[in-house]
Amino acid sequence: MVFLHVDGETRLATGYVDDFLPEALQFRPHVPLVDIGANLTHESFERDLEAVFQRAQAAQVTTMIVTGTDLAHAEQAVALAKQYPGLYATAGVHPHDASHWDCHLERAMATLHAMPEVVAVGECGLDFNRNFSTPKEQEHAFEAQLALAVESGLPLFIHERDAGQRMREILHAWRNDISQAVVHCFTADRDTLFGYLDLDLHIGLTGWICDERRGHHLRPLVSEIPLERLMVETDCPYLLPRNLPAKLKGRRHEPALLPWIVREIAHWQGISETELANATTQTAQRFFRLPTETLKE
Ligand SMILES: [Zn+2]
Repeated sequence: MVFLHVDGETRLATGYVDDFLPEALQFRPHVPLVDIGANLTHESFERDLEAVFQRAQAAQVTTMIVTGTDLAHAEQAVALAKQYPGLYATAGVHPHDASHWDCHLERAMATLHAMPEVVAVGECGLDFNRNFSTPKEQEHAFEAQLALAVESGLPLFIHERDAGQRMREILHAWRNDISQAVVHCFTADRDTLFGYLDLDLHIGLTGWICDERRGHHLRPLVSEIPLERLMVETDCPYLLPRNLPAKLKGRRHEPALLPWIVREIAHWQGISETELANATTQTAQRFFRLPTETLKE
């Protein structure tokens, strides 16, 4: 690999990149991007994480928020964020694992939230689609994490599926006490979206929007989301965008593919890719209180 040392950070030498990146990875926006939801502690990234970071850099994805979905993964996310520039972590317990919530976990999470690498409480929330934990357990763990967000002052990274109404009720009760919250991977309907926007929440959009089968209903909603409330994410390795060139279908999703999601969202917002990249990066920077120098090209 060929590296350049710029501002004390290791960056990939441009010019070399095009030789080894597949065609689909060569679509780059002109401004740096923030992937606000990357599951880089997933086992599928174990072998080639360095290469994943190099491709992300080459695709202008300069900042990644690594999602921490339980204690082990949150600790791994923090370890990655300590090791690599441009990486940050969230720390929380996913609604699927809510049945594991106890006072030990609560203390461990509070410790993580005090670390400088941790920029949000989560992923936490409600998932009534699969109910791997009971709704009651999910609500208990979620409210405990809302309390931790109040305590730490950190924003929230929220997962919600088929639980829009209950989510809005709970957040309504907590809204004055929490700072900010993003509903990540938003896939719900118009009423739910407007309910979240009325609560002054942020919205995270993934490659779901690129899926002509199940992302259809989202497309007319995209332009209803104010740019200062919108952020973009891969949710990789899940949700590979379906607007990729045919030869890349079936591969693993990774941060370097974020520009393809930006392209689709910009289309439905009716603005240029550069405008959307600029706006979502600024929004993410404000929301997660990221140092501005990480976003330099
Ligand atoms: Zn999620």
